Amino acid sequence: MKNANTATWSGIRTVFLDRDGVLNEKVPEGQYVSQWEDFRVLDGVPEAVAKLNRAGMRVIVVTNQRGVALGLYTVADLQALHTAFARFLARHGARIDAFYACPHDRGECNCRKPLSGLFEQAVVDFPDVSAAKSVMIGDSLVDIEFGRRLGMKTVLVMGTENRAPGSETAAELADLQCSSLLEAVETILSFA
Ligand SMILES: [Mg+2]
Ligand SMILES: [Zn+2]
Repeated sequence: MKNANTATWSGIRTVFLDRDGVLNEKVPEGQYVSQWEDFRVLDGVPEAVAKLNRAGMRVIVVTNQRGVALGLYTVADLQALHTAFARFLARHGARIDAFYACPHDRGECNCRKPLSGLFEQAVVDFPDVSAAKSVMIGDSLVDIEFGRRLGMKTVLVMGTENRAPGSETAAELADLQCSSLLEAVETILSFA
């Protein structure tokens, strides 16, 4: 039974996006993107985000960044990267409302997806956000588990390269599968 969650497509108000593999090219497992110079925005991403903006959807990024815990980059590096990405999007008429990142290692926090802490942080900043009116778009099993646990709709973006771990299971669990963020957004907006 695929649609055991409570959300309905027509009521979606907030779109939660994973970062790596959805907004930018995923690098091989165990590698991390830590600076704007290495951040490759995927085709159609500014257009997809702008479409969500025009539809009045809130757009929130939730990303696991264990590279901080591993000492590969700092929270300040992460913020600088997200600021540069936001500037790039602004030049294309697109806006992400907020970025939330888990900088911790496995098993030491409640905010590493699939745990729900990043959603709870978003609700503090945007109290009208409700899981039942949200969709999670990601490329990994943890993204789909995160959304399902909270009762969101879920969309798996299946890239062709550097496919995320658990993607077969994720494909079974997700409400929808798409090949890109743009396709996911167009599908969601067609239901709205
Ligand atoms: Mg990802
Ligand atoms: Zn965390």
